[in-house]
Amino acid sequence: MKILLPAAEVAPIIKFGGLGDVIGSLPKALDRIGIDVDVIVPYYNVAKVQKLKVFKSLVLNVPFNNENNVVEIFKTKLPGSNVDVVLVKNQKYFSSYGDKKAEKNKETEIFSFFCKSVVEYIKSKYNTYDLIHCNDWHTGLITHLLVDEMGYTRPATLFTVHNIMYQGVSDYDIIHKIGIIPGSHPLVDWDISDGDLNMIQQGVTSSDYVNAVSPSYAKEILSEEYGGFLAEILKAREGRLTGILNGVDYSAFPRKYNEKNWKKIKPGLKKELQSDLGLSIEKDKPVFSFIGRLDPNQKGLDILFDSIEEIVSAGGQFVLLGTGDKFWEEKYKKLEKIKKYKKNLSINILFDIELALKIYTGSNFLVVPSKYEPCGLIQLIALWYGTLPIVRNTGGLKDTVVEGKTGIKFNEYNSKELICAVKEAFSVYFGQSYDKMVTNAMQEDFSWERSAELYKELYQKVIELRIESLSRLDTSDVR
Ligand code: ADP
Repeated sequence: MKILLPAAEVAPIIKFGGLGDVIGSLPKALDRIGIDVDVIVPYYNVAKVQKLKVFKSLVLNVPFNNENNVVEIFKTKLPGSNVDVVLVKNQKYFSSYGDKKAEKNKETEIFSFFCKSVVEYIKSKYNTYDLIHCNDWHTGLITHLLVDEMGYTRPATLFTVHNIMYQGVSDYDIIHKIGIIPGSHPLVDWDISDGDLNMIQQGVTSSDYVNAVSPSYAKEILSEEYGGFLAEILKAREGRLTGILNGVDYSAFPRKYNEKNWKKIKPGLKKELQSDLGLSIEKDKPVFSFIGRLDPNQKGLDILFDSIEEIVSAGGQFVLLGTGDKFWEEKYKKLEKIKKYKKNLSINILFDIELALKIYTGSNFLVVPSKYEPCGLIQLIALWYGTLPIVRNTGGLKDTVVEGKTGIKFNEYNSKELICAVKEAFSVYFGQSYDKMVTNAMQEDFSWERSAELYKELYQKVIELRIESLSRLDTSDVR
C-alpha cells in the first residue's frame, strides 16, 4: 500500500500549529507498521531544512492562471525517520508564505496552485499511489482535480477534516485559474452558485471517504452549531464519515520525570518557571496555564479572561502563552498592569516552543476552554507532563480527558461553568486526589501507534471501496 499525504505543513520542517504536528508524526507511525507513505508540502522560505539533506528530484510544468509555471520537486527525509518529504518549490506562489512581512499572494490562490501541483506530481509518478490522503482546506481541490484529470484511473482518496471552521473560501475566478470549466462538474457548479468556491467543501464532497480527527468531532460537525452550513453536506456523507483521534509523538516532548518520580522533580521545574516568568516562588500557589492560538472564535478567550480573577484571588497564578487576534493580545497584556495581579500573572504574546515546554512541565493545570476542539494536542501534551487539563467537554477534549481521573471537565460554554471547574481544581490541588490524578494522567497513552493502526484499516477500506465501485460499473462512467 503506497500513500501520499498532502498538507500545508509538516513539523519540524514547517510548523504553524497543530496540523504540522500531526503531519510530522502520523507518517512516522505509519512507516513503523509497514506502510509506505510520502508527505508532500509546499517549499516555503521559512521551511527549516538547514540541517537536512535536500535533493532536487524533478521539474514539472504546472498550468495555472493561463501560464505554464515551473515547479521544482525536492526531496528530503522527515527527521528521525525513513519517510520521504516531497517539497514543492515555486518562487511566485510559495516562497513568502508564512513570512508575515513578505506574504503577497492570497492564501486560497497559493493552495489552489499547490493542489494543481500535487496532481501534476501524482501523474508524473505514473500514478503509483494507491491512496491520496488529503488534509484540510489547503488540499481541498486535489480530490476534485484527480476526478477531472485522471477519471477512473485515479487513486482512492481520503479527506481529513482537522478544523471545519477554516474553509478556504476563494473568489469565483479561481476556477478559471485552476482550469475547471464551469458546467463540467455539478459539485463545483453547486458550490460556486453563491459566488465563491469553498475548498473544504470540495474536499468533503469529492473524496471517496471523509474522517475527522476525533470520534466526538466527527459527530459534532453533523450539527449546524459545529459544522455550519457544511453540516447538511456532511450528513449526506454520513455513511462515509468516521473519526480517528490524533496521537502525540512523545519523542518531540522530552520529559525529565515519569509517573513514579514526578513528585521529586516537577516541583523544581515549577520553581524554575515561576522564577523565569517573574512570578512569586510559592509551592502552594497552583499554576494555571493556557497555551495556544489566540483565536476568539475557537479557543474560549472570553471565558478564560473572566476566570483569571478567580484564579488569582483564590491563591493561584496564571500564565498565558499565545499569539493571534490583536484585540485579545492587547486585552490580556493589559492585565499585567493591574496591581493585584503582580507576581501572580504572566502574559507572553509569543510563539516560543521552548517556553511552551517549560510551561507544560512547570504548571499544575492547563486550561483548554475551547468552544470547539477537533482533537486538541495541548491537553494530550499536558497529560504527558502530569499537568492536569481543565477542558470543556467537546470534540477531542471529550474523548481524551476523564473527569476526576485525569482532569476536570465542564459542559456549557460560559464563564460560570469554567469558574466552577477552577474551584474544583483548587479543591483537587489542596485535597487528597491531586497526586493520584497526576499519576493517572502520566499513565495515559495517546501515542500514534493506535491511531496509525486505525488509519491503516481505513486506508484498506477506502481502497477496497474504490476497487469495488470500479468493478461494479462500466469504467467509462466511473470517476
Ligand atoms: P491548534 O491546532 O488548534 O492550533 P492544537 O492543540 O491541536 O491546536 O495544537 C497546538 C500546538 O501548537 C501544540 O503543539 C502547542 O504546544 C503549540 N503552540 C500553540 N501556540 C503556541 C505558542 N504560542 N508557542 C509555542 N507553541 C505553541
